[in-house]
This record gives sequence, structure tokens and C-alpha cells, in this order.
Amino acid sequence: MNYLLKPDYIYLNGKTTSGKYVEVTGARITNICENVTGGKSENASGGEIGGKSENAFGGEVGNASGEPQIINLSGLTLLPGFIDIHVHGGGGYDTMDLSAQSLEKISLYKLEEGVTSFCPTTVTAPFEKLKKAASVVGEAAKGENTGAKIIGSFIEGPYINPKFKGAHPEEFIREINLDEIKELIDAGKGFVKSFAIAPELDGAAEAVKYLTQNGINVRMGHSDALAKQANEAAGCGANTAIHTFNAMRAFSHRETSMVSETLLNDGIYAEFICDLIHTNKHAASVLLRCKGEDKIILITDCMMAGGLTDGSYTLGEMKVKVVGKQALTEDGKLAGSVLKLNEAVRNMAFEVGAGKDAAVKMATINPAAALGIDKETGSIEVGKRADIIAVDDNFNVKFVMAGGVIKLSAE
Ligand SMILES: [Zn+2]
Repeated sequence: MNYLLKPDYIYLNGKTTSGKYVEVTGARITNICENVTGGKSENASGGEIGGKSENAFGGEVGNASGEPQIINLSGLTLLPGFIDIHVHGGGGYDTMDLSAQSLEKISLYKLEEGVTSFCPTTVTAPFEKLKKAASVVGEAAKGENTGAKIIGSFIEGPYINPKFKGAHPEEFIREINLDEIKELIDAGKGFVKSFAIAPELDGAAEAVKYLTQNGINVRMGHSDALAKQANEAAGCGANTAIHTFNAMRAFSHRETSMVSETLLNDGIYAEFICDLIHTNKHAASVLLRCKGEDKIILITDCMMAGGLTDGSYTLGEMKVKVVGKQALTEDGKLAGSVLKLNEAVRNMAFEVGAGKDAAVKMATINPAAALGIDKETGSIEVGKRADIIAVDDNFNVKFVMAGGVIKLSAE
């Protein structure tokens, strides 16, 4: 199917501009053209794009001659689809349900917040369950997804530090074992995309090297690491810090930690849960000042209660209560969030003060770059997959296209 998307504004190369339309052919972005008034749109090379049958979005599809269907998105801004690289669940479903159907439900749920691709994320659990999770996610990532595209799994735990376990059950935390890691990777059928490692654990350096050499993104966290240990892991290829400030040894001026290493080391992307619950605004400002707009990755860390009412839920093996916007374990620790990624972008743009253009980067090209999928998605560019959303001035999501397929529209 061919489409011509006609918004008021479009986010290109990190900036919002006007006067441009986007043409999509099949699954790809095939042209970014000037908005020429008078019923026709000229593309960059001087050609023409037909413009006859205007439909409100979600209307009839284009005709058989290959002329694009025009999607009128006036009043809206076109953005690259958001990418959530750390999400446990949502809409009542959890990655640890170990079911293809749950993953499809989560992929549908993520559309509402403008997410066009995501990494289903495990929590520490019995080893056989983790293998099964990697396998189920791998299978789902291979095929088509009903909602947002499943990139591959993020295996969060079991190779973490019990001292900073957060909502991960201690009894299933394990010592690093390279043979086990290989088993998990094999179970994932090529779709284990990311792996959590606490840098201070025995065997961490070897594991980080092995994973990165096999094209798997390593994220550091749930960790007691000192700055030096985090620095060494980064030197071995770990390029991301997991929910920065949370579940890591605090910064002290005489015994620095992964927090300061993350803030200072340009080789480390900083995941950040911008719900203003996991950290306050002041800490968010420190992060913004130190890392800048190119090295922060907004994540939700959302658990199954995302989009649902307050009540009792689970996160993997753990019982979790959701009250207000907080998801808490029985002993009162934060257990993921119920944050939506468009809310995180809004908070970063307006509350933390990064501004819209910078905040969008943190949910699009930055996560894509950290995972090494930025040639494929993460920005509106000719040749990339047509993962495109349209939002209003307050980041309310009105239109979602993933892989050239319209998944959600306001009408
Ligand atoms: Zn998590």
C-alpha cells in the first residue's frame, strides 16, 4: 500500500519543520517531499505525486494504479515511532506469561503511546522459565506483530547483584555462567537483543565481551559497581546503564559509583524512567545536563498494570500493588512503572525542560542507536522502515503506522 502523509509539522534530523510530506511505499519511507499548494506535491527530484482522493485518516485505501492514499494529518506533528527498549508488560499482560498471545496483547497496548517497536523484557525467574521467555519472544519477533513490532528480548536478570535486586526475586539470581548465557541466546533464535549484567560480578568482563562480540547490546545495572568497575565493563562493550539512578549504588563524593560513570562516560547511554516518581526533577536535570540529548534513552519499564486501574498484579514471580502511578512490591520497593512512553517524552520536554525536539530523540534515534538498529528505524528518512506516528502539541498520539501499516488512527 502507498500513502502520502500530510501533517502540519514533521520531525526531520532532530528538528521540527513545516512544509513537508512523507511518502510511504509498502513497508518503507520512499520520499520526503515539499508541500506545494495547488493540489500537487513535488518530490525532491522534481517529480510529481498524485493527490486526488483525499480521505480522513483511516478512510478508504488508495486505488489499484499505485497512486498513494492521502492521509490528512493537519494540526499534527509527524514523528518517528517511539521505541521502548525496556518494557515488561502492559494492558494486563506480562512477558513472563511465556505466551505468544500475551506478547501480541502487549504489542497492541504499546500502540496507544506511540510505540512502534519494543523489547519485551524478562525479570529474574527460574532458569528454564527464562529460556522459555527468550524462546517465545524470539518466535514472536520472527513473525509479523499485530501492534508494535517486537525487536527481540531484553534479558533483565538473573546476572545481577542481590544487593540491588529491586523487584527481582533473590532466590533466582545467579552467578554469571557463560554456558548458561549461550543457552539463553540459543533459545532466543537470534532475537536476544539485550542482556543485563552487573559489572562487579565474577566473570562480568568475559560475559560482556562475549555478548557484544555476538551483536548483543549489554546494559549495566541492578548493581553495586564502583565507577571503575562500570568503566571496565564499558571498555568491554557494555553501552547502556539500566534505569539510571535506580537499582544502582548511589553516588558518593569519596566512593564514586556507576551513577557518576554513567553521567561522565560518553560511551554509555543512560536509560531513564521519566515518570518523576523513580527520580525527582532535580536528578533528571542533572542527567540532562551531563548526558545531553544524544545519550539519554527514555524507557517505561512498564509492568502488566500499564493502562489498567489500581489494584493487585504481578511482575514475573513478584506480587505488586499499584496505587496511583506507583507500582510497589510488598516491601514497598518500586516494581517497574505504569508509565507510557509518550508521557515520558512529555515530562522530559516540558517538566524537565529538555524541549520537544530533544525529548523526541530520547525515545527514537537514541534507543535505535544503542541497539544498533538505527539504519532500519528511529527517524523519518528515505529508505527506513515506515515507523511513523502523529501527535498533537501535547504528545497525545493520534496516528500510528508501523512498518508501513496503519495500526491506529483517530477516526
Ligand atoms: Zn525492568
